[in-house]
Amino acid sequence: EVALQVPDKQVESVCPFCGVGCQLSYNIRDNRILWIEGRDGPANQGRLCVKGRYGFDYAHHPQRLTQPLIRRAGVPKDPHAEMDPARVMEFFREASWDEALTLAGGKLRELRDRHGPQALAGFGSAKGSNEEAYLFQKLVRAGFGSNNVDHCTRLCHASSVAALLEGIGSGAVSNPVMDVAKAEVILLIGANPTVNHPVAATWMKNAVKNGTRLILMDPRKSDLARHAHRYLQFKPDTDVALLNALMHVIVHEGLVDEAFIASRTIGYEDLKANVEGYSPEAMAPICGIDAETLRDVARLYATAKASMILWGMGISQHVHGTDNARCLIALALMTGQIGRPGTGLHPLRGQNNVQGASDAGLIPMMYPDYQRVDAPGARERFERAWNMAPGTLAVQPGLTVVEVMHAIQAGTVRGMYIMGENPAMSDPDVNHARESLAALEHLVIQDIFFTETAYLADVILPASAFPEKTGTFTNTDRLVQLGRQAIDPPGDARQDLWIIQQIAQRLGLTWNYTDVSEVFDEMRGTMPSIGGITWERLEREHSVTYPCRHEGDPGEPVVFVDGFPREGGRGRFVPADIIPADERPDAAYPMVLITGRQLEHWHTGSMTRRASMLDAIEPDPVALVHPLDIEALGCKPGDVITIESRRGSVSLYARADDSSPRGSVFAPFCYYEAAANKLTNSALDPIGKIPEFKYCAVRVVPGGPE
Ligand code: SF4
Repeated sequence: EVALQVPDKQVESVCPFCGVGCQLSYNIRDNRILWIEGRDGPANQGRLCVKGRYGFDYAHHPQRLTQPLIRRAGVPKDPHAEMDPARVMEFFREASWDEALTLAGGKLRELRDRHGPQALAGFGSAKGSNEEAYLFQKLVRAGFGSNNVDHCTRLCHASSVAALLEGIGSGAVSNPVMDVAKAEVILLIGANPTVNHPVAATWMKNAVKNGTRLILMDPRKSDLARHAHRYLQFKPDTDVALLNALMHVIVHEGLVDEAFIASRTIGYEDLKANVEGYSPEAMAPICGIDAETLRDVARLYATAKASMILWGMGISQHVHGTDNARCLIALALMTGQIGRPGTGLHPLRGQNNVQGASDAGLIPMMYPDYQRVDAPGARERFERAWNMAPGTLAVQPGLTVVEVMHAIQAGTVRGMYIMGENPAMSDPDVNHARESLAALEHLVIQDIFFTETAYLADVILPASAFPEKTGTFTNTDRLVQLGRQAIDPPGDARQDLWIIQQIAQRLGLTWNYTDVSEVFDEMRGTMPSIGGITWERLEREHSVTYPCRHEGDPGEPVVFVDGFPREGGRGRFVPADIIPADERPDAAYPMVLITGRQLEHWHTGSMTRRASMLDAIEPDPVALVHPLDIEALGCKPGDVITIESRRGSVSLYARADDSSPRGSVFAPFCYYEAAANKLTNSALDPIGKIPEFKYCAVRVVPGGPE
């Protein structure tokens, strides 16, 4: 029926799901999306995965929020009740925008004035545009008066970014994904691109077809193992042992690039001394990879003309996530495999705009463009740019996502404004997170659906979905791309930029941006990395890569050609030693839980589980378990099992999966009826402050609740 309809317009935009940033066209008729086509964008060249192609009708779902809502008087917030969108009106009543905004902003202002700026915190969104992220962090800094602003980068690559800033002075990728075509060797670790960055995975497969050697290292044998020259199924949590062993080989066999080390780095002697204790023979029993394989892989990586490292959250989501990334950086620096096409370091960014939201300053210790809030001169620069009196902005770094949840229970944070994030599903140990959210005196939610977090709100502000607004989005390759409005928001839902400004006004800020391009222009003025990108150029060319410092700059897809943006232009080696996972298996909880995503569903599922085709393919909560472990439980594939940790339990269907190592279980975190994050551990990497989603102790038992 849809195919027979003729669109009345086509709108060129970008995919709203992952960081690959595929360009697409919406085919529209009567304010409805009929179908999607891929465009010839730099990252996708016409390709789309199942989410980009079929995951669009969430925007038309009947559960869209279309009217502001206020919690009914006397209705308690129960953090342990299962949320049911069909019952929303039992807990909330409809309100006018004026009433909802007056309550939302007025109460935030009252808490700030009575208890001080630290009483408030805000979570922005990596799903929103750069302009939304920028205005949101500006609102928290200028309106709340603190740096208590964060978003889901804290849950995905915060540790990678911390290590990259420390080691090479920039938290973004050095080379685009497409550079795999120019690499002789791809080292892919802790990532499953076929599922999480599907179009990027196709470029890797194409490269392999053309002779590139893929080295895949991951405890889970993902689909790309079929295309790999070497696949190393190392034991979960042994990344540092494995990577230090590779470096030991490179040092001992004289495969280092001495000229590069001498002219472009500092700290090599400390690194060299540290890896001395990590011989392949000593590390083989720890990481489960034999010494000869470790030697072979080290030689392949070090001696190739161009080797490129890509990684995902298998590296970053550990209490030693920063150390894992430090090892990858050291590998590239010691071999000079960076600063040229087909080399470098590429943390595969997850959300469609997690790179841009981080760049725009949606993080508690950084202003836009990674200017530290406590660095000399930074505060003064932003006070001038934002027309604020000297000494107004806070210099103390703010609280991160998980720290905010603890601060609520300590009584420090009393009110929150959350735009487009769902911490009641995405935080570790969500039972604790939900208790924290329920304990807030005032919670304002801005979203498109009644999420698990919205269930605990005082005021809900109905916002715009991706195709309902215009803005820029930065993909994993540092490509700033224009997403264009294709349809109108439903009912009385409003554009997010308008809502942020309304809240700002009620906090006493006198903002009046009439067009998204005005916000982008202000960003250019405070962010040297995008200073040369004009709105007109984006409208004309659709996308521009940063750094682009001056108008007319072509942009730099490959960076660090001559130096690193840190002291003396030199990269820094930072040695790392083995730090075990926070919670190891024991007699009571003998298995390891690894959480992650599925191809068809995105993050907490609020969009993709309401996309009819995606939900039809993966409708029910599943856990992936090795077939022999299923048998050992006395179960068969498809049976219900219950996974229990010290923090909670969930019941779901067992799916036989021989890619999972024995003794482990993999659970996606998108299913509200079996929220995997009820099980996870909130222990943090001390530097990146990222939780250990990739490792905690669980036990698995047959059956579900009575
Ligand atoms: Fe969208 Fe990512 Fe799929 Fe591309 S690969 S279509 S950006 S989800």
